[in-house]
Amino acid sequence: MKPSNNHDLNKLAQASDGMAPLSIDCRGKVALVTGASRGIGRATALALAHHGASVAINYRENAADAQAIVADIEKDGGCAMACRADIRVPDDIAALVGQTVAEYGKIDILVNNAGIVRDNFLLFMTEEEWADVLDVDLTAAFRLIKATARIMMRQRYGRIVNVSSAAALMGDLRRANYSAAKAGLLGLTRTAARELAASGITVNAVAPGLIDTDMTVSLNDDARAKRVAPVPLSRFGLPAEVASLIVFLASDAASYMTGQVVGVDGGLHM
Ligand code: NAP
Repeated sequence: MKPSNNHDLNKLAQASDGMAPLSIDCRGKVALVTGASRGIGRATALALAHHGASVAINYRENAADAQAIVADIEKDGGCAMACRADIRVPDDIAALVGQTVAEYGKIDILVNNAGIVRDNFLLFMTEEEWADVLDVDLTAAFRLIKATARIMMRQRYGRIVNVSSAAALMGDLRRANYSAAKAGLLGLTRTAARELAASGITVNAVAPGLIDTDMTVSLNDDARAKRVAPVPLSRFGLPAEVASLIVFLASDAASYMTGQVVGVDGGLHM
């Protein structure tokens, strides 16, 4: 059989390996996305729901934004709920996980997306600026993995995707706290991947570069131009361009990937 196009290639793969053609199908899956009221988390929640997952949309302050996303998903025929939780607080994490299981019965997909910045030069960075960022960007992910992995282990199935950053790989001016937290997240990803593999759980990380969200909106034109200069694709990325990678890693299409860090940065880090 000589393949003439992609469709034929897929059919060939199916015939020779017993594999299904590439498709992203999250129907029947339950996803918990932290920091899903805005930016990359919002795009990820919408994309997961679009592919059939029921999604718990975590937020800390923006209840109206979170509810608007639930409404959009329901309008599209999907299933979602908004869950307030400050992921710095262990009791809030327990309640968030409990609420998701109470509503949907399980958790298949965890996306540790919520993140903050508190920028300052290393020599002036306060203990508080350091601790704030470590709490949200690293410690909360550790706690959420612990809480959800117990559920996933019982199911013998799980997908965990951690949202790191190109800053973890390259460092970033005035971001010692953020770069350290996001690099810590990569160590956490790889160790969790090793420890949880036998239970059918994969753990991967994405490393976005410059993405147009509230986190980068404060940059003026000059600062934006300076930041874009080293990006081979010469532009900021869109939240949806990160979300599509996260959904892939959270799906069965990525069933043989674990412990990986995948960049989505227009070529900034290669
Ligand atoms: P964003 O637009 O600033 O949104 C941050 C989200 O995190 C919001 O939904 C916010 O909830 C939530 N959040 C913050 N603190 C929280 C807490 N204590 N508990 C629960 N939720 C909390 O951010 P983004 O740009 O989409 O970034 C998303 C992730 O991508 C972050 O981990 C970030 O570090 C990473 N990233 C971003 C870029 C970029 O250029 N934008 C690049 C690399 C990596 P509320 O709306 O309720 O405040």
